[in-house]
Amino acid sequence: MLRWGIKLRLIVNYLILIIVTMSCLSGYLLWYFHRHNIEILTSSLLTHARVTEHFLESYMIGPTEKANIDNQIKELATKDDLRITVTNINGDVLADSWENPATMENHLHRPEISAALAGTVGTSIRYSTTLDQNMLYVANPILSGSEIVGAVRISSTLAAVEAGFNQIKSTLLVTMLLTSFLAILLSIRLAQKYTAPLEEITTAAQEMANGNLDRRLHIRTGDELELLAHTLNNLTSNLDDKISESTAETKKLDLILQHMDNAVILLDRYGRVTTANKMARESFGISDSMLHQHNMQVFGHSQLDRAVHQTLDQGKNIHIYLKTNIKNTPRVFQVFFAPITTTENEITAVLSVFHDVTALQDIHDRQADFVANASHELATPLTTIKGFTETLLDGAIEDPELSTKFLNIIHTESERMQRLIHELLQLAKLNSQEYRQQVTLEATPLNPLLYTTKEDLSTNAQEKNITVDIHTTADPIIMANPDWLKQILINLLDNSIKYTQPFGRVILTCFQENDEAILTIEDTGIGIPAKDLPLIFDRFYRVDRARSRSAGGTGLGLAIVKFIVEMHGGRIDVKSTVNIGTTFTITLPLA
Ligand code: ADP
Repeated sequence: MLRWGIKLRLIVNYLILIIVTMSCLSGYLLWYFHRHNIEILTSSLLTHARVTEHFLESYMIGPTEKANIDNQIKELATKDDLRITVTNINGDVLADSWENPATMENHLHRPEISAALAGTVGTSIRYSTTLDQNMLYVANPILSGSEIVGAVRISSTLAAVEAGFNQIKSTLLVTMLLTSFLAILLSIRLAQKYTAPLEEITTAAQEMANGNLDRRLHIRTGDELELLAHTLNNLTSNLDDKISESTAETKKLDLILQHMDNAVILLDRYGRVTTANKMARESFGISDSMLHQHNMQVFGHSQLDRAVHQTLDQGKNIHIYLKTNIKNTPRVFQVFFAPITTTENEITAVLSVFHDVTALQDIHDRQADFVANASHELATPLTTIKGFTETLLDGAIEDPELSTKFLNIIHTESERMQRLIHELLQLAKLNSQEYRQQVTLEATPLNPLLYTTKEDLSTNAQEKNITVDIHTTADPIIMANPDWLKQILINLLDNSIKYTQPFGRVILTCFQENDEAILTIEDTGIGIPAKDLPLIFDRFYRVDRARSRSAGGTGLGLAIVKFIVEMHGGRIDVKSTVNIGTTFTITLPLA
């Protein structure tokens, strides 16, 4: 197609060039040749006419002489194949070498005769029906002195001139045909020479356009085509590099996107989910079939849809807090929405990034709870103290028995407050990262701690006639802070004594299993209902608030215990049966 297109154009152009050139040249040559021959013939005929005029001068004087003219002319013309015609001043034919003048019509209006009778040389070319040929007529005036008395006309056939003309015409035509044929051959050869590399370039360009960027051209024509091929090779190579770079960049971005901790979802301007990263797919259970569905269908949340519309309407970044349930677990997300615009500032999509702030929210909620609980715990004894102080001031102080009772209550409540504040401070300390880094751990044997703790709380135990026994099968040594370790034992033993009826029993055991030290505190106390067991390590949680209060509890003891155990890399478990007893088991890694 390409080859024939160019070939045809080249052939046609060459042909037009040759035909136009040859036509112009031939036209000019033919015209020149014809004019030149006519001029020569005219000049020759004129010479003849002048000679004849000179010859006739004497015959044009009187009527007798005039009568002889025809004979003289016929005689003169036999020597020549020219036709000679003589007319008088009126155009009447006096003599004619080929015809009888008497039968001939007046020649006054023949252009050459009228020109000659006017005193100039007259010429004319006309077609002779008699001879069936073109004729050249040349007429010259016949003078008698200076007076024009007639005209002599010499005429000759143009057959020879026209034959020569036709001969040249044929020759030129053949030459033109031959040249055109050669032009066709030449143009086909040229076209082949140029279309072959062009065709190679076209095929290669098509392959490159179809994505084969390894294709290279090897054209050595030394002209613009070679330059074009070279440029095309460079273009492809650059394109290949750019595509590789862009692909690598896209892969990198995709990798980042897929491995992000946050869910990222791209929505189109109609709110349909178009792209979701791995985290988003996992978190919200988005499958391939859910892509291109409306976000309401995917999330079932109008809040998200409203935010998408707001981003599209306002064209700026916004963020919302989204509370939702994932696999029956409540989750809170801070979702950022950003409009994605084209270079013409048209918003085509919305990018949404989901930060899971459930844990953060949980901490906030816990902190709020903690502050509320702590305030409440402090407010209760304070109210009691204030109430009894006011009663004393109102006059109860006068009654010694009553005032002693009230002062005892005030004292107990202030002790509770002191304990509470002390435990709150302990918790705050344990919570402080800085403090935890400062705490030094040392190899601490467990058994001695059991005995000193028993000793420290012996008064409490004795008050309730509770027996505290210690059973040890080993003396494990663990890496711990002895003060904190003792705090664990004090809190647990104190609880056991507190929540065990008089004459009950508490057994402390210590043994070693594999590479762990195991410590148990077992009592025969009131026990903990199963439903409360998972909650007893929460701050301020108490199974029986009144009982805990009367026993002087704050609800922080077990929270502190758990904190310290975990700080030492251990774990704590509890088993309990109401009215039978409770066993706390602490497992700590050996030093
Ligand atoms: P408190 O200061 O109230 O004792 P704790 O955090 O030490 O607070 O204990 C939380 C709750 O767990 C207690 O209020 C009590 O109801 C329950 N509890 C703890 N230890 C025992 C135990 N040995 N026997 C029965 N109940 C216990």
